[in-house]
Amino acid sequence: MPDLVDLRSDTVTQPTADMRRSMAAAVVGDDDYGEDPTVRALEEAFAARLGKPAALFVPSGVMANQIAVRVLATAGTAVVAGRRQHLVSYEYGAAARNAGVQFLAVDDEDGMLEPDDVRNGREAAAYHQPAVSLVCLENTHMAASGAVWSMERLRAVAAAAGDAPIHLDGARLFNAEAATGVGAAAWAAPATTVMCCLSKGLCAPVGSLLAGPEDVITGGRLERKRLGGGMRQAGVLAAPGLLALESMIERLPEDHARAALLAEVVAQRWPDCGLDPAAVRTNIVCFTHAAPEKLLDHLHAEGVLAGTIGPQTVRLVTHRDVDDAGLDRARTALAGAPD
Ligand SMILES: *Cc1c(COP(=O)(O)O)cnc(C)c1O
Repeated sequence: MPDLVDLRSDTVTQPTADMRRSMAAAVVGDDDYGEDPTVRALEEAFAARLGKPAALFVPSGVMANQIAVRVLATAGTAVVAGRRQHLVSYEYGAAARNAGVQFLAVDDEDGMLEPDDVRNGREAAAYHQPAVSLVCLENTHMAASGAVWSMERLRAVAAAAGDAPIHLDGARLFNAEAATGVGAAAWAAPATTVMCCLSKGLCAPVGSLLAGPEDVITGGRLERKRLGGGMRQAGVLAAPGLLALESMIERLPEDHARAALLAEVVAQRWPDCGLDPAAVRTNIVCFTHAAPEKLLDHLHAEGVLAGTIGPQTVRLVTHRDVDDAGLDRARTALAGAPD
């Protein structure tokens, strides 16, 4: 049996040979003193690509999200976000702990927020309810099978947010760019801050970036230090990050095509699993299953690893380390799976 086909996450991707060489050759300095030229180059390249004035390199996507909430939101207020967003459901309550906020968690079944939910949340402050100091969005939306926002809805939600700043959790924003042809900067334009991960489908070993206005990023640098995320000769991590931005976005459509093929098999095998294969436009397939542990055991025995993201919710993620042969193995294993 060849190596396992690992569909648990796109975070399992190995850095490319070019990335490893770039790490060895990186020119570095103490980034806590602002003296690492490779980190600076990465922050500048990312800010330019996202159409924002400044950017900050951080160890993880969670830290980028937490910094955004700490800088933009006010303790004792509400942050509007979709109930299945990473910030709400997959960060172990970090925003409550780090920023003293509570979430006003609204419906995000299709990955997007409803403008009326955002408007109602803000207006509720007139009725003894917490003021809303921030709105958070996720694009692509992980738990909604990697759903991409519509630009029309994004504009409507931004209008509904009024004066409240918007933070965009764009862990996989470049997947949205690859799926739609609409650039990351256009997706980020209505937001004050945007976060993207380099360590997922873009194959860098470590790191995420937060982009936004100069003053917000300056504040973010301080919060990064407070959270223990100040790094020293971090250019060894920024160098593969630069390659991720330069050369890994263009290959994402391959992952999307393979995920669409997986979605087809899943929808055929379990027609009532809540998955519309036509809605799978990026690299994630989520579906409900009555006995996920049994299914995962079956897949493992067939050489395929899958994951779960909630009770009775299975997730399959395609990425650079899953090729056509691996995909065929996964499709065969899914088609032959027990109920
Ligand atoms: C992975 C992910 C994060 C967090 O990134 P880490 O680097 O794992 O901390 C945040 N938001 C979304 C939508 C993600 O998928």
